[in-house]
Amino acid sequence: MIRALLLPLLVVLLAACTRPAAERHDTQLVFGTLVDVTVYGTDEATAQRAFTQLREDFRLMHFMWHPWKPGPLGRTNELLALQAPFSANPSILPLIEKSLPLSQASDHLFNPAIGKLLDLWGFHSDEPPHGPPPDPAAIAKLVAAEPKLEDIEIHGVVMRGTNPAVKLDFGAMAKGLAIDRGIEALRILGVKNAVINAGGDLKVIGRHGDRPWRVGIRDPRGEGVLAVLDVHDGEAVFTSGDYERYFMWQGRRYHHILDPRTGYPAEGTRSVTVIHSDAATADAAATALFVAGPKRWPKIARQMGLDQVLLIDAEGGYHVTPKMQARLKYARQPERLQVRDPAAQKSQR
Ligand code: ADP
Ligand code: MG
Repeated sequence: MIRALLLPLLVVLLAACTRPAAERHDTQLVFGTLVDVTVYGTDEATAQRAFTQLREDFRLMHFMWHPWKPGPLGRTNELLALQAPFSANPSILPLIEKSLPLSQASDHLFNPAIGKLLDLWGFHSDEPPHGPPPDPAAIAKLVAAEPKLEDIEIHGVVMRGTNPAVKLDFGAMAKGLAIDRGIEALRILGVKNAVINAGGDLKVIGRHGDRPWRVGIRDPRGEGVLAVLDVHDGEAVFTSGDYERYFMWQGRRYHHILDPRTGYPAEGTRSVTVIHSDAATADAAATALFVAGPKRWPKIARQMGLDQVLLIDAEGGYHVTPKMQARLKYARQPERLQVRDPAAQKSQR
């Protein structure tokens, strides 16, 4: 009798220990997406301290770096347009410093100075974007003015804009930088195992108990995931896709990743996933390779120091680096797959 009772009780107790009681979550709406923080094997007090700190940090970064709401970046854009010297806002300088080499390495396909083009297309709005597409002459004028980060003079903390077409928008990298900072904060707080996941863009610390963290890469057209992979300590996985923010007009899809050379949504790509230890680099690179497209991506990947890339082209073909190919577990075996090594690209400088 006692033994019969004890057994179910033991089973219940064991289940309580192995159930992911070890896993704790916090979710917040920020950077226009749901940001989920998961910690594993962390005591309750440390977890709560971490969640509170990340909520405050992310809220502050959201305010500082917002591309169209009033705040430090909005003010910086106003002052840059005046083309007179001004004291730089300390929250904006790190964004410029971080993105300048990335922009240059991408042949300016990642270009955070094209805020005016994004405005023109209506992607700078809380409202869903909608057609019709902007006036081609207005697009051509902005493209001809060639706004880029190099049009900002920085002397110590004094900044000056030299091209009135420049408007800063760090939407292609800010989420990455925020996640790098969030992961750093978690490490300082003593968290050993965690994932910060912003709508599928993520970075991890440690493991999920006795196994690595495992994540899925979203299929840019169908439902569900096209592949899963194990992600290890300090790795970030970022995806840019034409399905994130777009409008349809006369049967065509107009999405939010613009080709700075044409001023129109980049063609030839559905999605790009990049793995890198630096989330800001992974984020900027996913956008840059999206613009580069299925032919040119290996050159840009080499220049940006990337060795783990998956690009899905407009026809549904897969393009991967050997290192990425080795770790992806495809949901369905791809029909068309091309493995290319960016390191094998000849330097064209
Ligand atoms: P998401 O924010 O959906 O994850 P991305 O990281 O690719 O996607 O960033 C897209 C955002 O980056 C756009 O909404 C826009 O603000 C900005 N952007 C679009 N095209 C470019 C570009 N060529 N270079 C730099 N920023 C861009
Ligand atoms: Mg990006």
